[in-house]
Amino acid sequence: MAFDRYLRHPDLTDALHALVEQRPDLFSIASIGRSHEGRDVWLVTATRVATGAAEDKPAVWVDGNIHATEVAASMACLWFLQTLARDDGVDADVTRALDTRVFFVCPRINPDGAELALADTPRWIRSSTRPYPYDEAPIGGLRRHDIDGDGRVLTMRVRDPDGPWKVSDRDARLLVRRDPAETGGEYFRLLPEGTIDDFDGATIRLQTTREQLDLNRNFPSHWRQEHEQFGAGPYPASEPEVRAVVDFVAAHPNICCGVAFHTYSGVLLRPFSHSADDEMAVEDLRTYQTIGEKGTALTGYPAISVFHEFRYHPKDVITGSFDDWLYDHRGAFAWTVEIWSPQREAGIGDYKYIDWYRTHPVDDDLKLLAWNDTVLEGRGFVPWRPFVHPQLGEVEIGGWDALFTWSNPPPALLAREVDRFPRWLVWQALITPRLEVHTTQVTRLSPDTWQLRVVLRNSGWLPTYVTKLALKNKLVRGVIAELTLPDGVTLVQGDARHDAGQLEGRAYKPGTASAWAAWGGDVTDERVKIEWIVRGAAGACIDVTARHERAGCVRLALELTA
Ligand SMILES: [Zn+2]
Repeated sequence: MAFDRYLRHPDLTDALHALVEQRPDLFSIASIGRSHEGRDVWLVTATRVATGAAEDKPAVWVDGNIHATEVAASMACLWFLQTLARDDGVDADVTRALDTRVFFVCPRINPDGAELALADTPRWIRSSTRPYPYDEAPIGGLRRHDIDGDGRVLTMRVRDPDGPWKVSDRDARLLVRRDPAETGGEYFRLLPEGTIDDFDGATIRLQTTREQLDLNRNFPSHWRQEHEQFGAGPYPASEPEVRAVVDFVAAHPNICCGVAFHTYSGVLLRPFSHSADDEMAVEDLRTYQTIGEKGTALTGYPAISVFHEFRYHPKDVITGSFDDWLYDHRGAFAWTVEIWSPQREAGIGDYKYIDWYRTHPVDDDLKLLAWNDTVLEGRGFVPWRPFVHPQLGEVEIGGWDALFTWSNPPPALLAREVDRFPRWLVWQALITPRLEVHTTQVTRLSPDTWQLRVVLRNSGWLPTYVTKLALKNKLVRGVIAELTLPDGVTLVQGDARHDAGQLEGRAYKPGTASAWAAWGGDVTDERVKIEWIVRGAAGACIDVTARHERAGCVRLALELTA
């Protein structure tokens, strides 16, 4: 499909099913749960069916659109799936990733919220449509909605001697701060487009929506109650959309890495959200930094810690988010990717994410307006136009079209923006641990006694346990090697089921081949040797299965022959 529009849920459903129909050799689709309003939460499994089952391969999780208005996140997932189909057999990395790994892609965790954002007359809510914490209608206040019938919820500017803003002398569209001591000019108050319930003629407050949940605060890791973490829900994973994801991920220990797509800011975010990097295992932090550096090189987005550089308030932290949960409780390397940066598009280089909204130079606003006038051909910023408000009288309505300029890329720029990510996702798959057979050997010790030797290896960059946290918190067990003996063959020595432990990868090798690196030596700690002695007649065949929850599964048959 052409990537020049955002898909409502029925259209996204059709697009996903069409992909699966075109490439049943690569894709399958299942509903992992139903939303509050009963819509399917779709999950596409992407791997080459011919090279083995999804459960037998290391996996990367990819999701999007847990927040209602962040619809570009769903499109990034769809674009990724289309890229896999397009580049399979053409691009060596994509082909190898599909041969040896699996992607679990959940494009729209929150279909109910996305339907509101994509409605003809959109409504903005944070996340799920389930009323929370109260079911009744809210009491009084300014209710955001489209009052001039143009299908957008914009901004009202209202003349008011107590307003904090005045028109800039550099661009009449732009409002700037009034000097603290200034008086006697024409000043404005900015309010969301809407009408005021129970207006008393003097005071205005904003009406809270009935839908106060934030599904990305409802995950179990460091979940906190409402008074500490707004929108977290009544208990961890209380919401059906989050429960569906948690159940699926918990049932798939092969998930080694994960990316949750959100909008916006143009940044790759990693745990922790709630504590400093000092609290993270050093090896995990360094690995996170390596994955982030690759991400920056491939996507153009900086990679940062939420705690250190992406705080909504300098004294507050957030908890209960997906990426923290996937790292903290599941021991996988998880990221939140905030797609799209209007500031960077407008040529504002090194801007400070959330802090930028508190204060920034007026030049930045002028750059954004210039970008609107040229690149966006005026479609981003709606000129102020007079409107007679039923309660406030003469006002003006206009300003930025936030949904498709700020919260999401304009449709014309969508494909270019989501094309940043597929190569990084594929690279993440290719660094996961992968169990393979190094060598096998059958040695005849006596006419009917045989020694079987199997050497396994981890060919991946990450160790089989993936994170030190997973090891420390006992989230992964070792390679389990299992013999299946045919009739007439008996085990003399060794365990029929054997725990062969963890295999290292190359992730912790030093960055340079110095004398110190050589002193440490590149020992073969990515290999393990397993031996058994069996008794049986020549020609018998013994099946060996070796499985690691994360690194995959190998199956081989050893024939008793000299
Ligand atoms: Zn978000």
